[in-house]
Amino acid sequence: MASVSFENVTKRYGKVEILHGIDLEIASGEFVVLVGPSGCGKSTTLRLLAGLETLTSGAIRVDGEEISTLPPSQRGLAMVFQSYALYPHMSVYENIAFSLRIAKEAKAEIDAKVKRAAATLQLTPLLNRLPKQLSGGQRQRVAIGRAIVRDPKVFLFDEPLSNLDARLRVQTRIEITKLHQDMGVTMIYVTHDQVEAMTLADRIAVVNKGRIEQFGTPLELYHKPQNTFVAGFIGSPAINLLKGRIGEVAKDQVAVALADGSPARGPAELSQQAVNQSVTVGVRPEALSPVSEREGFVHGKVTLVEELGEFHLIYVQTATDDMVVAKVEGNARTRPGEAIHLYAAPEKLHFFDEKGYSLQI
Ligand code: ADP
Ligand code: MG
Repeated sequence: MASVSFENVTKRYGKVEILHGIDLEIASGEFVVLVGPSGCGKSTTLRLLAGLETLTSGAIRVDGEEISTLPPSQRGLAMVFQSYALYPHMSVYENIAFSLRIAKEAKAEIDAKVKRAAATLQLTPLLNRLPKQLSGGQRQRVAIGRAIVRDPKVFLFDEPLSNLDARLRVQTRIEITKLHQDMGVTMIYVTHDQVEAMTLADRIAVVNKGRIEQFGTPLELYHKPQNTFVAGFIGSPAINLLKGRIGEVAKDQVAVALADGSPARGPAELSQQAVNQSVTVGVRPEALSPVSEREGFVHGKVTLVEELGEFHLIYVQTATDDMVVAKVEGNARTRPGEAIHLYAAPEKLHFFDEKGYSLQI
């Protein structure tokens, strides 16, 4: 177990800077997920920590010790990749034992470590098989086993579930959570999948274009996104972002006129904003419900209904041609072509300024 800190870390390839000053304080034993769209710099961040790339500037510390000049083998970290790259001619046992043999550990010691890792990962009955005789999920567990026996201070995962089908992804995700609970070891996990991030992480760092947009618990990111990028990235279906203007300011609440003219109520925090100033109103699909015309502040026509059993997704086209998605109970009867009026409680609304920063922090 170890703490990890990134201090103003930058990375440049030639003239192109792709990480612009990453700061992260990861506590010992914490499970931190870096999430963001493809190409934003997640793998690079992890590879700098692992020693597979060199920093351009800044520092990375593990338990307070600067490690960025140490060779990868001396950093006490183990990394699991998307492609498991097992040795095809070696059994599961030998694949897991390999790094210990290289390190010339005693035979009995190796045997004990391999068997313990296999038991943790439910691989015991498969120890004599070759990789080609395993499913994708089992292979990924062998790759994790290879990392476990090295007893790393920090586990690094780079999109380890991307090659698995949906069902196996969920199953392996649960296994990784259990592994973290059992071992208590610091884990840093990279994914582009926000559901994986939300379900695995103690804290999530949302990465965008080489910068960390926000670092917080899953629920902090969901309830208090600091900007429209985080708001749009966390939550599925994505939050609706509507254009509006600050309207009348009363003592404890502020009216926000949406682009199609219906006022929504905003919190008193907005009262410092100038009347008529542009804002973006964020409302999550699950916060919206169909109401009468008088009560609603989003008005439009139903264009599509996706019936998913437990809930329906209603796609609504507003008069200003915005597409708004509402997630409603599965027994609601709504048909394409119908007029619909939607409402969300004022405390469920998020407000952002013209640059996309939250007006509620
Ligand atoms: P992610 O893992 O978030 O998808 P990466 O960290 O792999 O993103 O890449 C971030 C950016 O850095 C991308 O634009 C990628 O093209 C660029 N990049 C990654 N590795 C190299 C390299 N060796 N040389 C030049 N550019 C690179
Ligand atoms: Mg990557």
